[in-house]
Amino acid sequence: MIGYIILGVILFLLAVTAVRAVFFVPKKKESKNDALPEEKIDVDRYCKNLSDAIKIKTISNYDREKVDWNEFKRFHEFLEERYPLIHKTLTKTEIADASLVYKWEGTDPSLDGIALLSHQDVVPIAEGTLQDWTNEPFEGVNDGEFIWGRGAMDMKNHLIGVMESVEQLIADGYKPKRTVYLCLGHNEEVVAAPDNGAKQIAQYLKEQGVHLEAVLDEGGAILPVNINGVLNCNLAGVGVAEKGSVNYEISVNAKGGHSSQPPKHTALGHLADVIKDIENHQFRATMPKFVYELFTEIGKRCSYPVRLVTCNIWLLKPIILKIMTKIPPAASLIRTCTAVTMASGSPQFNVLPQKASITVNFRTMPGVTIPDVEEHIRKSVRNKNIDVKFLVGKEASNVSPTDSKAFKIIKELCESADSKNLVAPFLVMGGTDAYNYENVCENIYRFAPFVVDTNLLLCTHGTNERLPLSAIPDALTFFKRYIKLMTQD
Ligand SMILES: [Zn+2]
Repeated sequence: MIGYIILGVILFLLAVTAVRAVFFVPKKKESKNDALPEEKIDVDRYCKNLSDAIKIKTISNYDREKVDWNEFKRFHEFLEERYPLIHKTLTKTEIADASLVYKWEGTDPSLDGIALLSHQDVVPIAEGTLQDWTNEPFEGVNDGEFIWGRGAMDMKNHLIGVMESVEQLIADGYKPKRTVYLCLGHNEEVVAAPDNGAKQIAQYLKEQGVHLEAVLDEGGAILPVNINGVLNCNLAGVGVAEKGSVNYEISVNAKGGHSSQPPKHTALGHLADVIKDIENHQFRATMPKFVYELFTEIGKRCSYPVRLVTCNIWLLKPIILKIMTKIPPAASLIRTCTAVTMASGSPQFNVLPQKASITVNFRTMPGVTIPDVEEHIRKSVRNKNIDVKFLVGKEASNVSPTDSKAFKIIKELCESADSKNLVAPFLVMGGTDAYNYENVCENIYRFAPFVVDTNLLLCTHGTNERLPLSAIPDALTFFKRYIKLMTQD
């Protein structure tokens, strides 16, 4: 009898799931943006200006003495020359060494403004890789399919897109109700530079009493995803948060001496156990709300049999987390990651180490703080005779909401541009300038509206960085519409 009841319950649940999966699809939208007028854009001018922007070698360096400031000066002159309406209509302030803030005064000062961020700097070409480039990295070659060069993806494409859009909006006679700030940092690529331009811009805005409705920066893109028979869409990942990066040194002390009379374990031997403890005690995996939303959005676009699983993410959470922890890129989305990266012992092969130490890099999830990391180390390591020293690091960012005006507009704009586009919140693994704006804004989104495949994304910071021309029209339309929709009320 009991067996029949259990069987009945199971069949009932399966039936519910089967029906649920049928209706587990994206809502049909009656998007008001479908009715948005065509935006006037000038793709040829964009291409020319991006090519020329790439020719200016705005390479940043941690050591400001090693920066060629003349290139930044040239870049500022280039902007002035190419965007006369911006320079006539907006006020420009230079901040720190070469950061710029343009302010486009809104007609309603009672409303919070918005900021569009783009960094001017690029990374250098790694030594010994120049000959691997198909086209010179600082010539901005346009071969009719791609615009090539350093910064073509990270992120002069974005910067020029924003400048073009504002220039065009002014030409159209558009007047924003909210104030628009264009914030162009000069050393984003130099993580933790002491003269961080973005930090100083945010500080400047704070001093001016500015509070922003939204910040848009780099961080996500629109990635075509095609898994045969399962999923065929363009995934627009909007970064709502970024992970922290925290470094600790862990040391073990010992007597030292000559290696001819060693103890059973040297300091390094003891340290081996420490490493094992750390690696075997990973941070707990959790599924934050935005990861759940990411899976739900993707799940809705999967084909029917797959939806039998994806419509039950809430139920299958423990199993999903378990599987994800086995796949490093997936694991990085759901937990603080631990990487033992450096080690040192004695300075010579016949000397016992008096001190042996390792450096561990933790990529923290939002909500996990620097003190939490230290507590985790002390709990995980059985050897209590260790020294734990905080070296350097930054906390994970806050998590921006997915029900703000800006997020909704980004979603609507992307999804109305192409029915294949799917917008979902995303966790950014690296750092962005946007991180510095938390004291003036709660709604911070890291997203570049360019459709680019993974191979092209992987060229960022590497060889053959290039932007496909096919991604340009939608991106320019996105920037114009985003600025308009965000600033008309
Ligand atoms: Zn960048």
